[in-house]
Amino acid sequence: MILDARNSEVALERSADVAIVGAGPAGLILARELSDYASIILIESGGIKADPQVDTLQKGESIGLDYPLSETRARGFGGSSSIWAGYCAQFDRHDFLQRSWVANSGWPFGVEVLETYYSKVAGLLNLGGVNFDARDIARKNKISLPIDNHKFTPTVWRFGAPIIRFGDLLLKEFCCNPNITTFTNATVVDIHLDSEHSDVTRLIFRTMNGRQGVIIPKILVLACGGLETPRILLNADSQIKAGVGNDNDLVGRFFMEHPHFHIKPLTLTKPEAFTHWAERGDFDAGSQYLSCLGLSAVAQEALSVTNARLHLYRTPGMDGSETPFAGLFMEQAPNPDSRVSLSKQEDSLGMRRLQLNWRLNDLDRVSFKSTAQEIGAELVRNGLGRMSNSIHNSLFNNLSPLYSNHQLGTTRMAISPDEGVVDSNCCVHGLSNLYIAGGSVFPTVSWANPTFTLMSLVYRLADYLRVKLNSGKALYTPNGCEEKLTFLNRQGNKYKN
Ligand SMILES: Cc1cc2nc3c(=O)[nH]c(=O)nc-3n(C[C@H](O)[C@H](O)[C@H](O)COP(=O)(O)OP(=O)(O)OC[C@H]3O[C@@H](n4cnc5c(N)ncnc54)[C@H](O)[C@@H]3O)c2cc1C
Repeated sequence: MILDARNSEVALERSADVAIVGAGPAGLILARELSDYASIILIESGGIKADPQVDTLQKGESIGLDYPLSETRARGFGGSSSIWAGYCAQFDRHDFLQRSWVANSGWPFGVEVLETYYSKVAGLLNLGGVNFDARDIARKNKISLPIDNHKFTPTVWRFGAPIIRFGDLLLKEFCCNPNITTFTNATVVDIHLDSEHSDVTRLIFRTMNGRQGVIIPKILVLACGGLETPRILLNADSQIKAGVGNDNDLVGRFFMEHPHFHIKPLTLTKPEAFTHWAERGDFDAGSQYLSCLGLSAVAQEALSVTNARLHLYRTPGMDGSETPFAGLFMEQAPNPDSRVSLSKQEDSLGMRRLQLNWRLNDLDRVSFKSTAQEIGAELVRNGLGRMSNSIHNSLFNNLSPLYSNHQLGTTRMAISPDEGVVDSNCCVHGLSNLYIAGGSVFPTVSWANPTFTLMSLVYRLADYLRVKLNSGKALYTPNGCEEKLTFLNRQGNKYKN
């Protein structure tokens, strides 16, 4: 059932097993996955279609690197997937590891924990399989890779056929699902805790026409993206001055993007060698792919740089016959000073607006320069490119990156509450029933577009919450150790994966 919360005939005081805030890909899939086991209330700030009045809630101040706060995300049923570009990529194995040259790097678990969910995510995203092997895809398409030696990692992005719009895909299903009640045009503005500050007891939402709702959930999941999730936690300051989950001043810190840089000194001299780099190639079941290239994990360690991928692109004004530019999508290093906080301004619902201070650090700058030099030199050696001398000059000193519309890291995952906002099960440290779904929990962000990894985490969280709802037995203990997976569905039968 989908209800417009502005409608005066709709009752706005409810209780549910699970309340999920945000109907983007994370919130929608989590709701669907849990709906056979629990009653779900899904609360979405936007409507079914985009609405300029609702979009005013996204306004805020950007005081660091240039970052528009409205165009980089979408409010409404389906979240930002209504405007996303569909680039799917996998994290590399070493993206999950602690790297001595990258401060605050590493996840509490390795890639194998998420790999379990990859084929499910690939199916969801219409990729026709989980093949991200650039060499295999090139072989099957009878294409040779321009650079392929041990120092480099040929890679692909995959695109679904068609690229999925979660709102369009799930609208009908959510209208009919008796276990999910969705409120649209309902913006969560506050979270209340019990007197011990260890349980969420209620959440409050408001509508643009002055209505207020109260939900009493057993479990609350915030799935509002990397800017609004910390904003809600920081705004919820009526009982704890610093906000909910913010005992260690970590909520909103470590904001990470995937900064993009044009490698201006590099010109391709043999663009015809780069088949399906600037134009997509066809692959399985009508899905498509694009090629790119990174330094191997060993080469990254030797140079002490973060992860990155070289890609080729044309700007909108260029025609298909022009030689494409070379650019790098970078992993941004975790940086506590790159952060989301609250401004003094309030929006029309009384929530303090966002203040974003997006900042890069020295490692980001050095990583761009070293990676560009290393890949550029290899292209020159192979007669594929020309590097101008300006690689050594001030070009690298005043870097102004482009953003990639990926808002990550602001409620990072860590085993210890001193180092992160959520534990390895995505549960907010210190609270028994508050969870976060989405890219804000990524402690390190790879070079790769986030949605593929984010959805794997959502499926894992769904598995974990089913256990919690049905038998109280944890799938992963807070220190990341696996426990036996046993839980029951609502009918009392063993849940089958
Ligand atoms: C232009 C663009 C292009 C992109 N391209 C790619 C790409 O090619 N590949 C890729 O991997 N990723 C891409 N992304 C990122 C991708 O869209 C996100 O990773 C994905 O949508 C995240 O899903 P989510 O559910 O976590 O958050 P979102 O999609 O942001 O959804 C969050 C939802 O929460 C709602 N919400 C926020 N605050 C509140 C509140 N207080 N109360 C109630 N509801 C609230 C919002 O209205 C929204 O619907 C792109 C994003 C944009 C904007």
